[in-house]
Amino acid sequence: MPADPDCIFCKIAAGQIPARVVMQGPAWMAFLDVAPLSEGHVLVIPKDHYVRLHELPAEVAADMCAHLPSLGRAVLEATGAAGYNILQNNGRAAGQEVQHVHFHVIPRQEGDGLGYRWHPKSYAEGRAEQLHARLTELLGT
Ligand code: AMP
Ligand code: ZN
Repeated sequence: MPADPDCIFCKIAAGQIPARVVMQGPAWMAFLDVAPLSEGHVLVIPKDHYVRLHELPAEVAADMCAHLPSLGRAVLEATGAAGYNILQNNGRAAGQEVQHVHFHVIPRQEGDGLGYRWHPKSYAEGRAEQLHARLTELLGT
């Protein structure tokens, strides 16, 4: 997948604009978010340009995700955080501002005020069964 000349993360991956890189592999890199939600907020990106997670080759996704445990451990140790969120937004409707796949690693403290409470809903009668049937059909499972 070629780089997008207008994409800020492609420019970071190409070394055209600076970033505080904390870890990388041939196909991915992790660096400090420039406008952190909390200290130690890290982003993990593929080096090639893909917009949304489901466009990534499975092996690149696997390689990035394989390094989330060590990143999580390092972020906890470096910041003294009590927890962290892994957040990954796909599409503008889901809050994705930079249109290049990225995982957020966001250190958390009790009562840090960052919030993160979504409101669970329930299915109308028969809808869960319908969706289950459709998803298993699509996934061939
Ligand atoms: P999202 O809203 O999920 O698309 O998140 C995009 C993230 O990219 C935000 O947290 C930004 O602070 C971060 N960001 C944007 N530009 C840069 C940059 N040049 N270096 C590091 N992080 C960046
Ligand atoms: Zn890009």
